[in-house]
Order: sequence, then structure tokens, then C-alpha cells
Amino acid sequence: MAEREGKLRVQFWGTRGSIPKPGPTTARYGGNTSCVEVRSSRETLVIVDCGTGAHALGEQLMSDGGKNLRGHILISHTHWDHIQGVPFFAPLFAPGNEWDIYGPKGLGPSLRETLAGQMQHTYFPVTLDQFGATIRYHDLVEGTFQIDDIKVSTHYLNHPALTLGYRLEADGATMTYSCDHEPHSRALATGQGEFSGQDLAHAKFVEGADLLIHDAQYTAAEYPTKIGWGHSTAEYAVWLSQRAHVKSLALTHHDPLRDDDALDKIVETIRAGIKKDPQKLRVIAAAEGEIIEIEPSHAKESDSPAGEFEAMSPVEPALAERSVLLCIVDPYITKALSESIHAEGIRAHFISDISEAKKIIAEERPYLAIIEHDLPDVDGIAVSREIRQIEGGDAHQLPLVMVAPRDETPADAAAGITDWLIKPFSDSYARTKVRSWVLRTACRWIRAATPNDEAKRITSLRQLGILDTEPEEKFDRVTRLAAAVFDVPVALISLLDKDRNWFKSCFGIDIREAPRDSAFCAHVIFSREPVIVEDTFSDDRFADNPLVINEPRVRFYAGYPLILEDGSCI
Ligand SMILES: [Zn+2]
Ligand SMILES: [Zn+2]
Repeated sequence: MAEREGKLRVQFWGTRGSIPKPGPTTARYGGNTSCVEVRSSRETLVIVDCGTGAHALGEQLMSDGGKNLRGHILISHTHWDHIQGVPFFAPLFAPGNEWDIYGPKGLGPSLRETLAGQMQHTYFPVTLDQFGATIRYHDLVEGTFQIDDIKVSTHYLNHPALTLGYRLEADGATMTYSCDHEPHSRALATGQGEFSGQDLAHAKFVEGADLLIHDAQYTAAEYPTKIGWGHSTAEYAVWLSQRAHVKSLALTHHDPLRDDDALDKIVETIRAGIKKDPQKLRVIAAAEGEIIEIEPSHAKESDSPAGEFEAMSPVEPALAERSVLLCIVDPYITKALSESIHAEGIRAHFISDISEAKKIIAEERPYLAIIEHDLPDVDGIAVSREIRQIEGGDAHQLPLVMVAPRDETPADAAAGITDWLIKPFSDSYARTKVRSWVLRTACRWIRAATPNDEAKRITSLRQLGILDTEPEEKFDRVTRLAAAVFDVPVALISLLDKDRNWFKSCFGIDIREAPRDSAFCAHVIFSREPVIVEDTFSDDRFADNPLVINEPRVRFYAGYPLILEDGSCI
């Protein structure tokens, strides 16, 4: 696609608040709920909110080919009118596509868990794990991060759900999105009064935007019966824009009770009221299908310094308190990663053998390990396995990133790799990834404890002489039968050895062993009782298990203990 002369392009796909309201009275401004497409001149695709408007956007993306699509979805909050398009967004189902989905990190379930919730069988026939695309979920707090050439800043809004506003800067232009939001001050809601406290912080967040897309569900006249509902009035959105030197304001989240003519009237009244505005604020009511190409207002690279926005505090504890473990030999990768890590103010520790890794993990508790796949003397996968087995320092839940010229193969899947950095990559890409990995939320994956009779158990298991023997029909018959009876794709007879889970019989999957750390069966061994996990995404022991987040993407597990005559659970 030709470069649009360096302009940031915004298209509205859903402008309605609360509930879709299709029909003749809303045909011009649109009946679909919140969804905005943003593209930089370099075609970086960011979708803000994924209400029902996302359906048509998804169709268009698929009609343009729909292959190898790369995109990012920023969710303001997980109220229905902002996520209901997710299960209907076709590009998420197409293999080969890659999507990053971001949303506010709450105290409760993760973003992925919340999205999975609306796709449980009770509500929807297809579950989240049936998306064919590679999808990564990111829980956000207040701060700044980079999506390719777009700088994204976040700011908490005032709404009954934890909600983030987004500020996107690229191509010398700034777009801000504050939806859903209610000013803290009641006077401000009527379009007058002073900005202070959190209202001032919000004004600073949107300061100088070329385009502000703002919640304007109500009018000042309607507001007295809507106080505390978490939405703004059109009058407040205008007053905020004037105070924050915004150039264009798009009113959105239109009330489902508001028809096109009523919206026309609101815009007309506002325009009449600001006629003499020396800043010449432009006001529109966002309309489905409308495209805005934002003229650059400042030099491309001279983005406003973050310090200007006092409301933005650094994300979580300072990155300077964190360190990264690297096992890399290639000089180009070493240089690129050192620079990326250094740029984030994070400490880097290069190691050349596993004993150094042990020392650093014990002393520093690094936040991330990056390992080169094709090391000259040893296999990167083997190094990853060894790191996973280091006792203490939470090595078993350290995010492990593999640098390789290709993606994961099924043979790699069991090694507990968290993510892959595919060569070649740009410096800015590496920097973005490092930042997102280091800021990962605490891992929801618990390794099973070792049983008290472990030594005896291993002796008894090995005395059976069954480990590493060939498959046998008498066992395969059992797994075949189990898969048929329970109507499941995979059934295994697994034997838990000292540090691996070895499969005497595998139905539906073609691997013979997997590391003990990620083994669901290790939990059965410890408890000596059946273990049933109804939904891995909502289980703190398994949600981030590599067998859940990567192939074979386990969503349900049921395991029954095999106990020998001497009482050993194997
Ligand atoms: Zn809403
Ligand atoms: Zn809401």
C-alpha cells in the first residue's frame, strides 16, 4: 500500500455506547458499539476497543487477503460494548495471523481470562483457544510503551470498571481516546469550572491532541439523573478539549436512545456555542465508516517528552530494579539485545554456562532469560531445560525467550519456552518485546511439589523395566478407549520419572516425553488422587503453563493415579 504522505489515519467502525442500536434512526452515525481503527503511515495497525463494530472491520481485513495479518487491539475496559466484537473478529481465527491484545490489569482475572469468560460454552459455541491466530495478551497499567512506530501512553479513567484511556503518537500526530469516562467534578460535567486533581491529570493526558475521541453519552441537561454512571456529557468533552488545547474533538459512545437527528442538533448547538473560540476547536459526532487523516502537527521524531505529562508514572517498580539473563553468542544479536535492554534501564547478565545461570538466578532473581537457539557447542533448548530445573530462585517460572530463525516446532513445545524472538528482527522490535516480557504479570503456573516418598517411588517405577520401551497394543487400546469414551482428542498413559513425564501410550499426540515441571500428571502424583481441571485458563496452577499457552494448548485435564502394589504412585 502506498504511504499516505505520512499521515496517521483513523476510521470509526463503532460509535454507539452500551448496546448496539441498528436501524433507520441511527443509520448515519451508526448502531455498532465502540471500535476505532488506527493506522500509521507505515501501516502499523492498532484497533482501539472491540465492540460490535469490529465485525465489519474484521471482514474488510479478511477481504484484503487476510493472510499474515499483524495487528494490535487496545481494550479500554471489558464491559460488553467494548469487547463483544472479539468472538466475531475473523482475523483472530485465521492461522498465520498474529495479534497482541492489551487491556487494563485489574485485581481480578487477567484480560485473557475475562475474554475467555464471554466465550464459555454457555454464551458462545467457540472458545478462546480455538482462535487460529497467534495471540498474545498483555495486562496494562499506567505508563508508556511502543507498538512499532506508534507510541502508546495509558491513563486511568473514571468509570465503574477499571478503564484505560489511550494516547497514540505517530507520524507527528497525536490521537487520544477517552471512553468510558466521567469527570470527577460535577461542575465540569456541565461544561464549566476549574480542572484540578484527577480531572487536571486527565486534561494533561489529552493535552495538545490533534484528535480527541471522547465519551459524550449524555448532555448536560440529562446529566443530573446520570451522575456516577461513568460517562461524560458533550459539554464536558468540549470544555476539556478547549482547556487541553485539543484541535479536533470527535464525540462518541452515543447513547442508544439518541437518534441521528438528535446528534445533529447537539453538534449544531456546540458549534454555535464555540463560534468565537480563538483556538478554532473542530467538533464532530463520530460516525461509523468515517475516516480522518490527521495532519502532522509537529516534527515526526520530536514526540512530546513523557515528563510533560505528570499524570504518567513509571510502570510498576522501576525497570532499573530488574535484570535479564542472556545466553547469546551471535555478535549481532548480542549488540541488538544489549542496546534494547540498556535503553530500558534494565541490567543485562551474559552467561556462558549453566553454573553462571544458577548463581545469577539465586542472587538476582532475573525477570527474563533470553537464549540463543543455535549455540556453537550446545543446543539452546537443552540450556532452557537446564534453567527450568535449577532449584530455587523461581527458575521454573522465569519467562524464557528463545532466539531462533524459525518458530517453535512440536519437539520444542515441551521445553517450557515462554516466547520466541524470530531472526531477523529490528532493534525497536526487540526493545518493545523486551519491555513487554519484563513487565509480564506474575506467572500463573505452579509446579507440583515433590512427594515425600520420591526416592522409593522412582526405584519402584524403574524396577518395572517399562521406561523407554516400545509402544504396546495392550496399553494403546486403553488410551484409544479412554479418548473414545470421554470424547477427548488426547489420552495418555504417563509415567512420571525423576525429571520427565514419559508416555507409554499416546493417543492423539505425537510426543514420547515432556519435562516434569510442566506436567499436569505431577499434580496427580503428589496428591495421589484424581485431578480434574475444568478450565486451565481460570486455574492459577495452570493458566500460564507452557502446555496451555503453547501447543498442545490444554484446556481441560483429568488425571487418575496409577498406584503400584507397594503403594508407589507412578
Ligand atoms: Zn461503554
Ligand atoms: Zn463501560
